[in-house]
Formats: sequence, C-alpha cells, structure tokens
Amino acid sequence: MKTLPVEVENLSYTYGTRRALAGVTFRISQGEVFGVLGPNGSGKTTLFKILSTLIPVSQAAVNILGHELGIESQRVRQYLGVVFQHPSLDLKLTVTENLRHHGHLYGLRGKTLKHRIQEVLDQFELTDRAQERVETLSGGLQRRAELAKATLHKPKLLLLDEPSTGLDPGARRNFRAYLAGLQGTTVVLTTHILDDTEACDRVGILNVGKLVAIGTPDELQGRVSGDIVIVDSPAPEQLAPKISQRFGYAVTSIEGLLRIECYNGHEFVRDVVAAFPTEIRSVRFGKPTLEDVFIKLTGQHFEENGADQNP
Ligand code: ADP
Repeated sequence: MKTLPVEVENLSYTYGTRRALAGVTFRISQGEVFGVLGPNGSGKTTLFKILSTLIPVSQAAVNILGHELGIESQRVRQYLGVVFQHPSLDLKLTVTENLRHHGHLYGLRGKTLKHRIQEVLDQFELTDRAQERVETLSGGLQRRAELAKATLHKPKLLLLDEPSTGLDPGARRNFRAYLAGLQGTTVVLTTHILDDTEACDRVGILNVGKLVAIGTPDELQGRVSGDIVIVDSPAPEQLAPKISQRFGYAVTSIEGLLRIECYNGHEFVRDVVAAFPTEIRSVRFGKPTLEDVFIKLTGQHFEENGADQNP
C-alpha cells in the first residue's frame, strides 16, 4: 500500500476534562493542500500541535509518511516545515541571516545552502528585501519570509497554522498565490478564514472537536443547493412558519435572520416580498459559501460557535 503523507485515524485529545478533539479521521495524499477550517475553539490548534509534534500523542492514531507519530516523532520532525501563528523569525536579523541559521539547523552548508537560499528568495519574491532586517518588513512580507524559511530544507510536509491571520485582504490573496506556487509539496493549513479555502484542494470542517465534513470546496458547497436567501424581519419567529407554509422551504432562524435555501433565489425574493410586504425589512440572496455549509451542518453561525463548548 502507498504511504500517505498524513493518516489520522480516530484521534481524540483532552486537556484534563476538556475534550478538544473527538474521533478525528482523515487522510491526505501526496501534493495535496488540505485545509482544516473551523471557528475559534473547534480544535484546530490542538490538531496542528499534534501534527507538528508539539503535543505528544500516545495513541497509534497519527501516521506521518508512514511513521507512527507516538513512537517516531523525532524522525518525523525532519520531514516537516512548520509555520506557526506567532512569528518564528528573528526580527533583528536580515531575511538572509534568518534563512542561513535555519539552514544550519537542518545541516545545510556552503554552496548548497547559498543556492537554496537564493531559490526560496526568488520563489517568494524576497530577493530585493534579502538584506533588510525582518522588523522593517510589512506583515505580508514577514509571512512570506516565514514561508521561505519553512520550505528552505524542502520539507515533505508543510504545516501552516492560521497563515493569513493578521494580514489584510490584499496580503491574504497574495499569500494564497504563493501557496498555490508550492506545487508538489503536501500542505496542511488550519484557518478560520473562509477565503483561505480557495487555496485548498480539500477542506475538513472542524466543529467542537469533530470533523463534520470533508471534501473539495466544490463538493462541500454542493451540499447546499441553489441560492441562499436571508430575510430580515421585525418579527422573524412569526414570519418563519408563514414562509415555510406558503413556499414549502425549510426556514432556519439564526441570530434573528431567516435563512432559506432555495432554487431560483431571484424569483423567490420577488415572491416573498410580494407575499409579506409589511413583515420584511430587507432581503438579500447569494450563492452558498462554506459558511452556509457550516450553518447547514451545525445549525450555527461560523463565528458564534464559541470556544467553550465541549463535544
Ligand atoms: P482553535 O485553535 O480551533 O481555536 P483549540 O485547539 O485552541 O481550538 O481549542 C480546542 C478546545 O480546547 C477549546 O475548547 C479550548 O478552550 C480547549 N483548550 C485549548 N488549549 C487548552 C489548554 N491548554 N488547556 C485547556 N483547554 C484547552
């Protein structure tokens, strides 16, 4: 059987009595970019720490490149490139100095190291900033320098913890483009930013420690049919059953707004306003996003789903 970069089988983890992961199972193929998407408190960091060997696991639940993590974490570490949420670059050193130190840690020296540093500087378009101290770079450039550092030793598996957090939308888009350029490298990234899933081949949606869905972004979005219509009403609880009865759609009430999954949203918008003109403040509709998938699967908003629940 072919060795997969990551195999996680029924992984659970508790902090004291608080369960952070409950029976998580997934497999990742060579070269795949896999996103673990979940709101705060869903268990992303815990999963990331386990994969990056920061939290030891005693169960035989995680295999990285055919090595059982609980037994061979030392061995596994050499295959990993890791970008943590908090910067790991030395801010007082230049980009090149940071890369050189990192290379030394992985046994790279001399010409080989020099050549490899130039390669990653080119790849992440940092050549003209190479001699600048990291503290003088923008957040987006620093994140790119983190990526250059993490990939310098050609890791077989790259782990990124919330790589876009703290970046403005432009820098995020830019970062996703660099991720797309990492062809051939297997990547696991955690995120609570829905847009980050654009860079992923497959996404696992984590909710209070459980993987509630897994698939390509298109497959996941396909779980919500047609359009999503959001109705804002001064009396949502009274209006919901009336809409259901009249149009035959299921109506979900979330944070005082009514959500309806329907076909031909534009016609429904017209009809619902005509049917209940005095009971509707505003209506909007759009194509489903992964947030809609999350709402459908969990009955909750992505953001509201807090850290203090326990599976
Ligand atoms: P996320 O990264 O998705 O925000 P975490 O993995 O940090 O999620 O947390 C998952 C759950 O575990 C949460 O309920 C959180 O409160 C809890 N948790 C995380 N770290 C600790 C810890 N060191 N001690 C106790 N509980 C923790």
